[in-house]
Amino acid sequence: EAKGQGKGRQVTYATAMDQRTAEQSRLAADLRIALDTDQLTLLYQPIVTMPGGALFGVEALLRWHHPERGPIGPDVFIPAAERTGLIVPLGAWVLEQACRQAVTWRAELGPAAPATVSVNVSARQLREARFAEDVAAVLGRTGLPPEVLTVEVTETAVFDGGTALTELRAIAALGVKIALDDFGTGHSSLSLLRSCPADVLKVDKSFVDDITDGGPQAVVVAALIGICEGLGLRAVAEGVETAEQAAELQRLGYRYAQGFHYGRPMPAGEIADYRPAADKRQVAA
Ligand code: C2E
Ligand code: MG
Ligand code: MG
Ligand code: MG
Repeated sequence: EAKGQGKGRQVTYATAMDQRTAEQSRLAADLRIALDTDQLTLLYQPIVTMPGGALFGVEALLRWHHPERGPIGPDVFIPAAERTGLIVPLGAWVLEQACRQAVTWRAELGPAAPATVSVNVSARQLREARFAEDVAAVLGRTGLPPEVLTVEVTETAVFDGGTALTELRAIAALGVKIALDDFGTGHSSLSLLRSCPADVLKVDKSFVDDITDGGPQAVVVAALIGICEGLGLRAVAEGVETAEQAAELQRLGYRYAQGFHYGRPMPAGEIADYRPAADKRQVAA
């Protein structure tokens, strides 16, 4: 009987997997159309300096407005794009758009322009042996100084094997900055610091979430700032949602943050009007 149940469960599991695969194929087919028909946009989320919350840089975050299904988040469609390989042309589009926008900001805002524009790059893109060449070509076409561009990669992407590290070293040699995204959530965080040419470490939101509880997460966040100082990395705290978290991060020595407390992802046109949260409170008072 137990055997029968196990078998039944296996069938159910297989069916669920098939449904997921079918759903991902549908999404990927729609996404191919989306890429050619203006359904995709980039939002930009402020990366700020603390204290004060002044704009330092921005992270480009992809949004898809599906004609029938409405907005679909990247957590849903990026995996489908990765599975089908569509992430390669999609990622190229993101890179080009973000670099063009960065050039526009520099022309329009001068010294008030974001000092850095971050772009997320997935494992599948890093496995392409042409990745660094493509980055160099986009920088050439747009005229963006390489050091203004930051490429965000996760630990998993770097350890995906193949050419990932070679490609990262090549773009680092161009002068492009490299950020380790969602740091602490992968399987090889600390050894990555030895092998990967990183400039920025983004402490994952899951560590920041509980930072005011006095639990172990706070100890990790405190230790990471020391590691970053020792290695000359810029530490950015991700997912800062409250003034309490911001205050605790500052107490621990953090100088850079990103999160809803400071600003949500917004259209490019709104970045010029971004004002620190502290200023907003003063205006309200
Ligand atoms: P990520 O690179 O870690 O980006 C940060 C995510 O956290 C974004 O979600 C952002 O909206 C969200 N976030 C920022 N601050 C807060 C906060 O205070 N609270 C909460 N709850 N969330 C916050 P989003 O835009 O949904 O993107 C999810 C993930 O999708 C990104 O995580 C990134 O891994 C991936 N992604 C987004 N755009 C691209 C892209 O153009 N290419 C690739 N390959 N991946 C992308
Ligand atoms: Mg990111
Ligand atoms: Mg992240
Ligand atoms: Mg993420």
